[in-house]
Amino acid sequence: MKAIFKSNFTEITNETRLMQQKLRIIQVISQNGYGITVPDICKELKISAPTGIKLVNELQSEGFLSIIGKKETQNGRKPAIYALKNVNFYALSVEILMKRITVGIIDSRLNTVYYRQKTDFVLEDTADCLQKVEGFILECLDNSGVGEESILGMGMGITGRVKHETGESLTFFNFLDQPLAQHLSKFFDIPVFLNNDTRCFGMAEKIVGKAKNVNHAIVINLSRGLGTCLVIDNKIVNGGMGFAGELGHMQFGKREKMCLCGKKGCLGNDVGGNALEEIFMEKVAIGEKTMVHIPEDGSSVRYDDILISALKGDELSIDLIQDMGYKLGHALGNIVNLLNPELIIIGGKFSKLRTLLLDPVKTGITSSALVHPMEDCKIEFSELGDLGGLKGAGALVFEYFELIKN
Ligand SMILES: [Zn+2]
Repeated sequence: MKAIFKSNFTEITNETRLMQQKLRIIQVISQNGYGITVPDICKELKISAPTGIKLVNELQSEGFLSIIGKKETQNGRKPAIYALKNVNFYALSVEILMKRITVGIIDSRLNTVYYRQKTDFVLEDTADCLQKVEGFILECLDNSGVGEESILGMGMGITGRVKHETGESLTFFNFLDQPLAQHLSKFFDIPVFLNNDTRCFGMAEKIVGKAKNVNHAIVINLSRGLGTCLVIDNKIVNGGMGFAGELGHMQFGKREKMCLCGKKGCLGNDVGGNALEEIFMEKVAIGEKTMVHIPEDGSSVRYDDILISALKGDELSIDLIQDMGYKLGHALGNIVNLLNPELIIIGGKFSKLRTLLLDPVKTGITSSALVHPMEDCKIEFSELGDLGGLKGAGALVFEYFELIKN
C-alpha cells in the first residue's frame, strides 16, 4: 500500500521519525483550532528551527498546510501562520467473527465512511482462511474510493484470545512464525494493531458510546458467543497478558456439554447464539412446537431467526431467551459484587430483544447481587448497532497516533 506510515514492526528509521513528527504537527495545528507559526511548532515539538521549517515546507508542498496570514510581532519580523487544509485521516478497520467478516474505513470521530460485510464467511484456523481475509481486505480497500495515502493504519478485532501488546492472536492464525499483526503489517505495509473483538467493541462504547464519561462499566457483547469488556477507573482492562474479561468461560453454566476451552460449566455454553441454536434444536427434537421454520435438510436454524420469532411472540423462543437472560443476570450479579460498576451495557445481536431480555437479566442480577452495588448500577442497551466492533478496531489506530483519547 502507498500509505503514509510503513509497518510498525520494523525498526524506526529517520524517515518514519520524520513522518511521526509531521503527524504531530498536524495534530498540534488541529488541536489549536486556528493557525500556528513555525516557532510555535518548534516549541511544542521540541525540535530545532531548521527541522521545523523543513517539515512545514514539506507538509505545505504535500498539500496538508497553507499560509493564512502573518503574525504581528514587536521586533518587526512577521512569521507566517500555517493552517490545515481539509485533511482527513482514516483507519482501515477489520472485524473477524466466527461467521462474519467486516471491513471498513473509519474516521477519527469513529464515523464509518465505508464498510462491507461478508456473511458467508467461516473463520477457520488455516492458511487458506487467512488468504481469504487478506483478499477481502484488498478488495474492500479498492472499492472504498478512499486514497491509501490518507490511511494511517489498520485496526483489527478478532474473536478469541488476543495479546494486544504483541499483536498475537492465540486462538486463530497462530501457526504463523510471527504474530498475526506483524504478518499483516508486512503484507499490507502499514501499521497494524490487533485486539479481541469484544474489547474493540468496548473501546467504541468508551469513546463514542454509552460508556463515555463512565469510570466503571461492564460491556457485554452478546451475539453468537458471549464476550465481555471491563472498564475500570476509566480504562479498558486488557489484563496482565491480555486475556481479561472472559465471563463466558466462568463456571456459571449448567449444561453438560464440553466447552471449546476443554472444560464443562462455562457460561458461554449456556448463553449466546451458539447455545441458543443447540438448545432450540434439542427442544424441537423432543417435539416442542415453534413458529420458527425448521430446515428440512436437518441443518440447524440460525439464532437470529429465533430472536426474531421471540419478538413475534413464539413461546418456545421466548422461554429459552428468558432462561438465558436469567443465567446471564445471575453471573453478572456476581461481577457486580466483585467490581461495583456504575453501568452494564448490553450490545450484540441479542440487544434487539430489549425488555424481553432485560427483564430476566434483572431478575437474575437480583438473585446474586448485593443490594447497594445493584441499586447504583444501571443496565442499558448499546446504541452502536452492528458496527460497534468495527469502529473500535479503527479506534486502535487513532489511539496509537494519539488522535483520540478514551
Ligand atoms: Zn470454556
